[in-house]
Amino acid sequence: MVQLQKPKYVWFGGGITVWEEARFHVSSEAVVRGLNVFEGLRGYWQPDGSFGFLALPRHWARLKRSAKFLHIPFDMTCQEWIDANHSLVQTMYEPGRSMWTRATLYVEEGHWGEGTKSNLVLTAFHVMNMPTSITTGVSTWQRGADNALPARIKTSSNYQVTRLAKVEGRSRGYPEMILLNQHGRVAESIGSCILVVRDGKVITPPWWEGALESITVDIIEELCKTMGIPFERRPIERTELVFADEMAFVGTLNEITLISECDGDKLREPRVLKSISQRYLNAVHSLEPHPAVDLQCRPYDPRQPGLLSAAE
Ligand code: PMP
Repeated sequence: MVQLQKPKYVWFGGGITVWEEARFHVSSEAVVRGLNVFEGLRGYWQPDGSFGFLALPRHWARLKRSAKFLHIPFDMTCQEWIDANHSLVQTMYEPGRSMWTRATLYVEEGHWGEGTKSNLVLTAFHVMNMPTSITTGVSTWQRGADNALPARIKTSSNYQVTRLAKVEGRSRGYPEMILLNQHGRVAESIGSCILVVRDGKVITPPWWEGALESITVDIIEELCKTMGIPFERRPIERTELVFADEMAFVGTLNEITLISECDGDKLREPRVLKSISQRYLNAVHSLEPHPAVDLQCRPYDPRQPGLLSAAE
């Protein structure tokens, strides 16, 4: 069973609040119609002792796009967003332990898009040990079409089908599942995008095949350019999962998780994806910086635990 972390503080209603105090009403649209949009962000400790969030402005921009699409007000500036995320992780930092935050913009009130009132909640967690390699299978559940439930919008409704895929995967012994789109082609996984390597070339389905507009995929595309590895966004047929030389799931939280087996077919020891993964890790830890890996770093002083004391 997954052990849920319960941090002491959350960012709620415009500032840091004690976890237990962050409450909203049972009649809110977030409860009644499950209306929200969200982001998952990740940060890394840097060699100079600072804590660096990865691609905060890009996550802010995607949250804004999702909110706009679903007519949810979100007027926070990018700078306020950066400050809010940093102030929250400062309440629970432990040098060396990387952290991630979930930003959820939920709707408090406003029926059917009228008089909508929203609120942003940020929760921060320590990153638990992630597997570097996993097995997977193809789910019988499908990604929604763009005119039904657009996969590029990061809203909870989209995660109901991936939840079903997760439950299905558990019954088949797979921790992660691949979802196809309405045409039977590869879309993405439960919570990440998919990379397939054939003959040395990295291939990934474009968003119109039912994938989220992934920030990690954009970064990997730029890393590949630097590394001289061919990279292509194009539809992927299901048969290519069988013919693939290497495969991986990629996303902000799970970085590059190599796939060792898909529906019982074992994949070879990955070479291309392993080298990209190493380059990615070197960049996010600033051991080998890359222009596509933008980190918003703030120094941390353990003797001045910032907003932690202010909130207490
Ligand atoms: N697809 C889904 C369904 C996801 O939840 C995520 C994680 N945000 C991704 C893809 C990867 O997106 P990103 O690289 O921006 O984290």
